[in-house]
Amino acid sequence: MRRPLIAANWKMNLTVEDGEKFITALFTEDIDYNIVDVVIAPSFTSLYPLSNLVMKGHAPIAIAAQNMYVEQDGAYTGEVSISMIKGAGATQVILGHSERRNIFGETDSFINKKVKIALNSGLGVILCVGEKEEERDAKVEVEVVLSQVGKCLKDVSYDDINNIVIAYEPVWAIGTGKTASSDDAECMHKRIRAFIKQMYNTEISESIKILYGGSVKPGNVKELMSMEDIDGALVGGASLKVESFIKLINFKNN
Ligand code: PEP
Repeated sequence: MRRPLIAANWKMNLTVEDGEKFITALFTEDIDYNIVDVVIAPSFTSLYPLSNLVMKGHAPIAIAAQNMYVEQDGAYTGEVSISMIKGAGATQVILGHSERRNIFGETDSFINKKVKIALNSGLGVILCVGEKEEERDAKVEVEVVLSQVGKCLKDVSYDDINNIVIAYEPVWAIGTGKTASSDDAECMHKRIRAFIKQMYNTEISESIKILYGGSVKPGNVKELMSMEDIDGALVGGASLKVESFIKLINFKNN
């Protein structure tokens, strides 16, 4: 059984104060953490205060960074290393998000380097993959996505793969209000799972979590989550307001 995971990617939104109010509001909600895992990825500046807050509140909410750099330290102005992220209390990192790929030019091989370093250092990784609209129009979406998975996971060991969550996020669905149909999303998730089976084995392919991301909101989360191979959601816009994030976490009650 793969426990559902709902992850918030706040991107470059919400200050420390906003984040603290958000998490404090979550504490007052009735959430059964035995049936759902919750991850929040705030900006770097909020990692430390929010990690402290969830620790003090004894809430099993994992805090994730949205990115990291591959070097441990040195003259890399503006970058943030893994030890800094871990020292700030984060336990996971999002890698390969389409905004990192498309705005900041990150390639599969660079993402692969980050994935291996993060895993070696004990950080869990949420690895994002997804095709662009023109790639889906050209009907090459499966090849594109599986190629990203293969390249980003190259040389990731059988042990380390257990610390990976894959997020399938079609680029055309991110922040656009257009969601992949639950059938289309399920179809891609099945292909990714079969590919993981080829790369690793049945046990790993059955246990790895594959999230869907792209305009997930309270109105569509239940249907997406009803699909066999959709194990959770990575959510941008609808994770910014606590009222809507709660509805996503409690998707079963929608
Ligand atoms: C994302 O950025 O990972 C994302 C899925 O955003 P949104 O939910 O806003 O489409």
